[in-house]
Amino acid sequence: MGKSYLTPRGPQGFEKISSSSSSDKAYIRLKSKVHTKPFVHTPFHTSTKHILNKLAIRTKSSKMSNTSSPKRVRRGSDAEERPTKHSRRLSDSDVSASSSRESTEATTGLESSGILDNISPKCSPTTFTQVDRKKYLRRAKINSFAWRRQRKRDLARQVQQNWNEMPNAAQQGMKNLTGTLCYRHSLFQALLHCPKIAHWLRSFHPPQTCFVDKATHCIACQLRSVIKAYWSGKFSDLTQELRTIDKVFRANGWTPGALSGQADPEEQFTWMIGKLNEQLPGPIYAFFDALHNFVLNSSTTCTKCGHVSTNQGETEGILSIELRPRLPNGELSDYLDKYMSYSVTDYKCEKCKDTAEKQRTRLISHSPDVVVVQLKRFDPLGRKDKHPIPFSSTLDLTSYRTASNKTSSKYELSAVVSHLGGTSGGHYRCIAKGEDSCWNIFDDLRKIAAKESQALDAGNGKSWTPYLLFFQRKRKIKSTQT
Ligand SMILES: [Zn+2]
Ligand SMILES: [Zn+2]
Repeated sequence: MGKSYLTPRGPQGFEKISSSSSSDKAYIRLKSKVHTKPFVHTPFHTSTKHILNKLAIRTKSSKMSNTSSPKRVRRGSDAEERPTKHSRRLSDSDVSASSSRESTEATTGLESSGILDNISPKCSPTTFTQVDRKKYLRRAKINSFAWRRQRKRDLARQVQQNWNEMPNAAQQGMKNLTGTLCYRHSLFQALLHCPKIAHWLRSFHPPQTCFVDKATHCIACQLRSVIKAYWSGKFSDLTQELRTIDKVFRANGWTPGALSGQADPEEQFTWMIGKLNEQLPGPIYAFFDALHNFVLNSSTTCTKCGHVSTNQGETEGILSIELRPRLPNGELSDYLDKYMSYSVTDYKCEKCKDTAEKQRTRLISHSPDVVVVQLKRFDPLGRKDKHPIPFSSTLDLTSYRTASNKTSSKYELSAVVSHLGGTSGGHYRCIAKGEDSCWNIFDDLRKIAAKESQALDAGNGKSWTPYLLFFQRKRKIKSTQT
């Protein structure tokens, strides 16, 4: 985004290497001693030269045996990766050309930032083989990925999870100003009862730091006004802010259904997130990204040759759960299982080129603080699936974590947005839990005290059907892990 990255808690030893790349790509970490010493964080240029010098020494010394030595590589299984039959050394132009080719494949930031192009001429081109380069990139990519995940955890931790300035007494209904805004207000109620999201919107983008053009209006600033008005308990202020945010949304291009004026709360949420991402400075949006988005690693196993293809770092905000095919007596946890492990038919094995159906498994590399589950009830043909999917007040995603993800992944239900009616006409409401752990139904202007059993009611096909489920990370009594 062309911004200078300002990490509040940047890890020691990292040094900014590019101000033009995206924030995630501005840092890398490297081994300072190849194969012999533990990882330390060192500035890129220093350590790169160091590694390349090491490689040069190894190449010259026939006594040293190492997997990255060209001699060993010639006999090894990596031989087919090399550009020619012989161990050809790369010239500057080779490195530059392959650098641009690989820029779409690797995500270390090295390629897109042009760093490799810059450093290659300084290194001895006679020592930097294609295989060495691939090994080096692979290592840098792994380290960069681990660091990005840790950074997300650090960012999420900086946002408060308490209910300060969110008193129970302030909870209130919202005036449905146009008669069609139940989709938005039910979503707002759910978000207002997520302390971390509320605190982020309230504290991380103060008005004096806003540079959004007045003509288009800032979504984050107006959401902050709604939050303040809501938790102040002043109904007239809230109504005014809801009126204003409707204008701000329209000014930013939000267009609900042309005829009905109705829309889907999930669509509204996705649109809002897109706008926040667009309008806020990258380092500020990064907090929300860490709070709300999963990072998933997937692996696809070939049934023919057994080759496992992995893909790291897929970002997923809302867990959109397909309700078909039906699972016998299936509950939310069963459908989640299918979400995390499913068969794919459009994938060709990169080793044996087999196109038969394969099994893909997803694991959670970064566990967000707020989990939003969408039960996909509305299909493109305009039909609503009212099938009840039972769920409980807790959600345990621990078994889906990667081995290196030690973050607590147990969640508790905080809000449910439900729908009544069909696609031609219907009504949304929210049932949410406050600081006192008591549930309330928020149905337009009305606020009705409720029991947890009402929040967990999966519906019978004729009444309210849960649509969006909001879970928040369980607060720990004793902090034993992060
Ligand atoms: Zn703003
Ligand atoms: Zn295969």
